[in-house]
This record gives sequence, structure tokens and C-alpha cells, in this order.
Amino acid sequence: MLDKKVSDFIKKSFRKGNIVCLTGAGVSGESGIPTFRGKNGLWESYDPEVYATMEGLISIFRADPQKLVDFVSDFYTVLLNARPNPAHISLAALEKTGFLNATITQNIDNLHQAAGTRSVIELHGNSFRIRCVGCQRKISLEKDRVKEMLKLLEKNRDSRIKLLKVLSRYCPRCSNCGSRYRIDIVFFGETLPQDELVRAYKILDNCEVFLVVGSSLVIYPAAALPLYAKERGAQLVEINTEPSALTDMCNCSIIGKAGEILPEIVSFLSI
Ligand code: NAD
Ligand code: ZN
Repeated sequence: MLDKKVSDFIKKSFRKGNIVCLTGAGVSGESGIPTFRGKNGLWESYDPEVYATMEGLISIFRADPQKLVDFVSDFYTVLLNARPNPAHISLAALEKTGFLNATITQNIDNLHQAAGTRSVIELHGNSFRIRCVGCQRKISLEKDRVKEMLKLLEKNRDSRIKLLKVLSRYCPRCSNCGSRYRIDIVFFGETLPQDELVRAYKILDNCEVFLVVGSSLVIYPAAALPLYAKERGAQLVEINTEPSALTDMCNCSIIGKAGEILPEIVSFLSI
């Protein structure tokens, strides 16, 4: 239960609407997707310096293709099994009722869209989409296609040539420019999609409340967004299971699980 001071603050500040939310891996933790630094996460078994870079993945494929099959399978299995949790559903409700203008996310799991949020700004891409490296055209990679790809990778795990054929089928050449498609996520060291970043800054220009949920806020440029919003007059509200890099700057910091706090906020706003 939120204490009275916090709920009074939320009621007063949220009533004005014009809220923008920024989410990190913590909002999907209760959907079974471990956070980046969380226990039993993907990155305990796979070194992100290698597996979260395009060069690293190519070198793994050359050295030990079976390892790449294991990684792709482990990466997607968690995402395929995840469903929106009460935090995603509450944010969708806040948008539907006009409180929330947009949800900026660092997640690549598509769960905000699956919960019904329409205005999602994806700073790190989406693992259920591919993008042409030439003309930047984007195509969605449906869950069934991913499942089919995982089966084929598993079936052909002993042959590098066959694996390459499978990967080429799901990341084909672009009919528009002839370049190849790749997964539309931002790997370590890559620049963020500038159009999404511009959208994020624009929507923060006149936001009343910037609500940050489940992000350690240590990765730039996302980590710079709260200060940008605050300088333009927004109140900063945070929901996290522990203090973050943002806590000292917040007008209201709520320690707790997003999947419990957000439904409570939705209910006392009488949505
Ligand atoms: P992070 O893992 O660095 O931090 C997660 C934060 O969420 C922590 O501060 C933690 O205390 C908090 N948290 C954990 N469980 C919570 C809960 N139930 N309710 C509220 N807060 C909770 O995540 P980050 O800041 O998003 O940065 C990691 C990067 O890794 C991101 O850029 C993202 O692209 C990527 N990533 C994405 C996913 C995903 O798509 N679901 C998952 C893991 C990592
Ligand atoms: Zn193209």
C-alpha cells in the first residue's frame, strides 16, 4: 500500500495528465524476463561484450556455430514465453484514459504493444522486427516465424552452411535496395535510432510528469532524459524495487514492484 503522502502527490500531479513514462528492464521482470543485471539472466551465461555486439556474434558463428544456435534459442525462448504483466497493462490503461501521452522504453520485448499501449517509443529497437541495413525499411518478425526459425536452427545445428541458409531466410535481402535485413535491436556500441530519440525529446518538451519505471538509469542517452524533462518543468516520479541513479533527483520515489504499484495507482485514479 502506498503511504498517504505518496498517494496524495500522485493524485495531484497525475490529474493534470500530460504524463510520459520511461521503462527499463524492471517493468518486464514480473513477466519472466530477467533484468540486465538480474539473477538467472541471459548475460550470466553469455558475455554481453561478445554476444551483445554484431562483431561478437559473427565471430562466434565462425568459431563455434552451435554456440550461436544456443544463444539465439535462449535469447528468444524467454521473450516468446513472456506475457504482459499488470505493470504493462496499467500503463496501457493510463494511456487509454488520457493520462499518459507516450511510453518510451529501453526494452526490446514488445510487451507494451502486447498490453495495448499505442504510443511506444523504442530506444533500443524490438526483437520481433528486422531492419534493412541499407534503406532502414522495417518488417515485423512474427512470433510464429521466430518459432519456426528456432526449430530450423536446431535441426541444422551441425552444418554451418545450412545454418547460414536458415539465417539468410529470416534476414533476407531487401527488395527495395538489395541490402540485407538484420534484427532491429541496438547492440552494444551502436547508436540509437535517431528518429525515436527525437520523438522522445519532443514529447518531453511539454510533459507535466515524467514517470520512470524499472530502470537503473545508467545507460546513456536514456539516462539523460529525466534531467531534460525536469529542466522543462516536469515532476519526476520513479518506481523501482531499489534506489537508482535517479532517486536523488526525483520529486517522488516509490520503492516497490511495478506490477503492484501501477495497478494501485490506476485504481485510486478511479480508472
Ligand atoms: P537494468 O537491468 O539495468 O535495471 C533494471 C532496474 O529495474 C533495476 O534498477 C531494478 O532495481 C529494477 N527492477 C527490477 N525488478 C523490478 C520490478 N518488479 N519493479 C520495478 N523495478 C524493478 O535495466 P535497464 O535500465 O532497462 O537497462 C538494461 C538494458 O538491457 C536496456 O537497455 C535494455 O535494452 C536491455 N534489456 C532489455 C530487456 C527487455 O527487453 N525486457 C531485458 C533485459 C535487458
Ligand atoms: Zn533496403
